[in-house]
Amino acid sequence: MPALPTADKPVDLLVVGGGISGLATAWFARQAGWTVQVLEAAPHTGGKIRSFHEDGYLVEGGPNSLLANDPSFDTLVAGLGLREALIEANAAARRRYVLKGGRLQALPTGPLAFLRTPLFSPRGKLRLLAEPFIGRATHEESLAEFVTRRLGHEFLDWAIDPFVSGVYAGDPQRLSVRAATPKVYALEAEHGSLLRGALARMRERRRSLQTGPSGRMVSFREGMQTLPDAIVVALGDALATDAPVEALRRDAARGLWTASGPTGQWSARQVVLAVPAAAAARLLDGSAAPALQAIPYPAVASVALGFRRDQVAHALDGFGFLIPGRLGLRTLGALFSSTLFPGRAPAGHVLITAFAGGRRHPELAELPDDALLDAVLGDLHGPLGLRGEPVYTHLTRWAQAIPQYELGHGQRLQQVQAEVARLPGLHLRANWLDGISVGDCVRNAARLVTELAEGERKQG
Ligand SMILES: Cc1cc2nc3c(=O)[nH]c(=O)nc-3n(C[C@H](O)[C@H](O)[C@H](O)COP(=O)(O)OP(=O)(O)OC[C@H]3O[C@@H](n4cnc5c(N)ncnc54)[C@H](O)[C@@H]3O)c2cc1C
Repeated sequence: MPALPTADKPVDLLVVGGGISGLATAWFARQAGWTVQVLEAAPHTGGKIRSFHEDGYLVEGGPNSLLANDPSFDTLVAGLGLREALIEANAAARRRYVLKGGRLQALPTGPLAFLRTPLFSPRGKLRLLAEPFIGRATHEESLAEFVTRRLGHEFLDWAIDPFVSGVYAGDPQRLSVRAATPKVYALEAEHGSLLRGALARMRERRRSLQTGPSGRMVSFREGMQTLPDAIVVALGDALATDAPVEALRRDAARGLWTASGPTGQWSARQVVLAVPAAAAARLLDGSAAPALQAIPYPAVASVALGFRRDQVAHALDGFGFLIPGRLGLRTLGALFSSTLFPGRAPAGHVLITAFAGGRRHPELAELPDDALLDAVLGDLHGPLGLRGEPVYTHLTRWAQAIPQYELGHGQRLQQVQAEVARLPGLHLRANWLDGISVGDCVRNAARLVTELAEGERKQG
């Protein structure tokens, strides 16, 4: 057997996984003056971020946009020279629809709209007045339990359940409120009430003269993949694709980690695992593996549909619409992609991106192409007033799409962290801890590098 290529010089930081978590970690580490090497198993980088240019459409197979609400994202974009390529979502994106009674109803964005909305009954609206008087949770609650207890079941059915489908493709009966929506959980934990907490946050923002929006919904002119692609260019030959890591081993005497796989082996003082939980379980084995394997990753299919504008009766004047689980439809919701950002469809056409599968019905994401398209078109037909067949379709399937922060997620992470604490120089940075959004992944990457740099300084 020929000898595997061996890195002659160990780097400071080895990053396993070339999704946005790994790429951003490597980029920030480079900025901090470290030598890095990224190893990506697939032939392409970016992980769940995939943009396709086809027949005049610009399709996102994974994330369609990101919320830029942390300085780390601005640093990354500026450092990569991408400021001009960044685009903000159409102002209409503030309008979000929920399907109810066969029609798309806009989610209320202010008190007057709330009083008028047919999404909630007068009784459901009155129920809100009780919220400030409800006590704190006594045990780890699911998102469904928490919302029903504090806001009533109508809020769960028509606001939170569809929101959870939109973000996690998840099931609110299983998601942990503390792990999946920590900001909401903190309002109760810190202020005893969501309403009081929200008012306190508004006052804080005013005091700190933070008057602007709390985040901007953005993408890039040529699609989300612009971001990982630019990091890849910046990293140059410090990145290898088609390089799956199959084993990690530490030489305590030399203080070095070695990652090896079929294409070579690389050494470094520190390693960051930026891979999905199941892949991390294989590399860590030991006591962390069962906890990592217990994190559910349901399948999701993203279904891009191109129509001539005159085939769609709805104004498509918003972000898109979500379908509450209690309606029993097969689609989770759909984005009005060509309303959100320019350049997503040829002139006179529109692009709609629907999602199917997720925690409640992962099997739908694995339907044969025709059956999947029929299911999605059947659900979208009435609410959007569709006429005729789409003129363009593109399916993207993710067998393991989005990690679910379900009940027990906190304990599972504690078990994993306890194991990692015994492995000096090994770190975790992926979307199964501390947030799943692209913005979360970038922020967490920047934080990890800051922590590592501080650790190095302290050690002298
Ligand atoms: C359909 C869909 C829609 C989404 N929509 C949005 C959205 O609109 N906005 C938003 O903010 N977020 C969205 N998300 C979430 C977001 O895209 C992801 O959470 C994020 O991109 C994950 O990045 P990551 O780097 O942590 O993981 P991944 O992207 O999963 O990257 C992990 C990488 O590790 C590699 N790898 C695995 N094993 C090994 C190994 N042994 N050796 C080397 N490499 C390995 C994989 O090939 C992969 O490239 C969406 C996700 C999906 C699936």
